This record gives sequence, structure tokens and C-alpha cells, in this order.
Amino acid sequence: MDTGLSGFVKKLPLKPLTLLDINQISTDAYILSLPQTHDFLPGQVVAITLDASIAPRLYSLCSAPKDETMQILFSVKPDGLLTPMLAKCSKGDQLLVSAPFGAFLGDEQPAWFIASGTGVAPYRSMLRAGLTHNKKLIHGGRFAHNFYFQDEFATALKDNYIRCCSQESGDGMYHGRLTTWLQQQQQLPAHQMYYLCGSAEMVVEVRDILIGKGIAIERIMSEIYF
Ligand SMILES: Cc1cc2nc3c(=O)[nH]c(=O)nc-3n(C[C@H](O)[C@H](O)[C@H](O)COP(=O)(O)OP(=O)(O)OC[C@H]3O[C@@H](n4cnc5c(N)ncnc54)[C@H](O)[C@@H]3O)c2cc1C
Repeated sequence: MDTGLSGFVKKLPLKPLTLLDINQISTDAYILSLPQTHDFLPGQVVAITLDASIAPRLYSLCSAPKDETMQILFSVKPDGLLTPMLAKCSKGDQLLVSAPFGAFLGDEQPAWFIASGTGVAPYRSMLRAGLTHNKKLIHGGRFAHNFYFQDEFATALKDNYIRCCSQESGDGMYHGRLTTWLQQQQQLPAHQMYYLCGSAEMVVEVRDILIGKGIAIERIMSEIYF
């Protein structure tokens, strides 16, 4: 029996949508633009596939509700089923897409946004929607090309945008893992939210660090990309 989130995702109603655009934004990452068919809230996801024989995968919307198109950011998993095929799509191709849903939602409250890799996508939606006040974004990536949307984030957040690059050093980047950066912080603000989004390894490790530094579990929200 198919239970849990994957069973739920397989049962979501999907509608054909025409791909408006596909842009390669780094060696392994692309942005898909789709017609804006639904209202949604920054932080929500859609399920996407190419045809009914492939189980849909979830993707955070990285555009804002006010934008003309719905966008998703994805990285290609070379051994994956869907993303190598998505990367070969062209403008005009048909995708099967669900309505947006999800409860990983930003608001006006002070928060730290923490992401690994493409886990930065929902924060781009939140920041484009104007939720920039009292926000800090800490983004971890292996290489400099993994800091998707870095110009937008630097403009919106200035010194509150921290790039932690584990495999390369470069101007303005912290050289090391984001978990090391977090461990090095003397004191973390206690009365705010912490959003974690990206790989399971990162989310689990960061959650432990935050709790170890006195952050209440109720102040930690997680979205795991599996
Ligand atoms: C809530 C949510 C939001 C997400 N948002 C995004 C997003 O905005 N952007 C984004 O890029 N991704 C996002 N993801 C991840 C996305 O849904 C896909 O998992 C990802 O794109 C990989 O899809 P794929 O079909 O190419 O790879 P899959 O075929 O799903 O494989 C993924 C990896 O697992 C390995 N694998 C597959 N099957 C097995 C197995 N049986 N045993 C061991 N290893 C296996 C593959 O080799 C591959 O490396 C999100 C996930 C969730 C849950």
C-alpha cells in the first residue's frame, strides 16, 4: 500500500500546463516558468511530472504571487528519474502540474532563513513577496555557482545574506559549511522563527545545533527535500 507523503502526492490532481520558458542558471540548475494558474502563498509547492507513468515530484515555487509566471528552481540529479528529463524540456512542452499547497509559509515576523542548495527557492518567493524585514538568509552550497539568486538576495538583505561555501573560497563568502558557521555564532536570537529548507542531512544537523543553542523546537520550521 502506498502511504505517507508519496502516496498523497501520487493522488494529487494534475493539469497539463504549457512550459513558457526554461533557463539554465548555473551548471546544474534551471528555472522553469509556467502560467500563473492559481493564487498561492510564498513557500508553497507544486507537484510536477512529464507524464502519468512517472510519479510526480514536489517543487517549491520560487516566484512571488504577484509575478506574471509561476517559477520553480531545480537542480539536475544525474541518476534521478525526472530532473534529467525536465532539463531537456523546451518552451511549449506540456508538463503535468498540481495546484500549489503546503504550510511552510513566511510572514512578517523576524526570522532566519536557512537553506542548502535549491532549498533557497521558497525564500526567494517570500523575499520577492516583500517579506524582507528582520530576515537573515544563511545559504549553504558546495560551489560558488550554487548560490542561486545571489544578486537578488544581496540587494534585498545586504549584510543579512550569508553564503557558506564548503568547497571554494571567494569574495564575501564564508569558507565552510553552514553548520560550522552556525556553531560559531556565540548567541542566537531566541524570540524569532528559524526556517530550514533543503536536504534531510542539513535539516537534521541544523535542528540539533539550534536546539543545542537554546532555541525552542516550536520556533523551528522545516521543509525537507527528499
Ligand atoms: C516539499 C519538497 C519540495 C521540494 N522542492 C524542490 C525544489 O524547489 N527544487 C529542487 O530541485 N528539488 C526540490 N525537491 C526535490 C524534488 O522533489 C526531487 O526529489 C528532486 O528534483 C529529484 O527528482 P528526480 O526525479 O530527478 O530524482 P529521483 O529519481 O527522485 O532520485 C533522487 C536521488 O535519489 C536516488 N535514488 C532514487 N531511487 C533510489 C533508491 N531506491 N535507492 C537509493 N537511491 C535512490 C537517485 O539516484 C537520485 O540521486 C523538493 C522535495 C520536497 C519533498
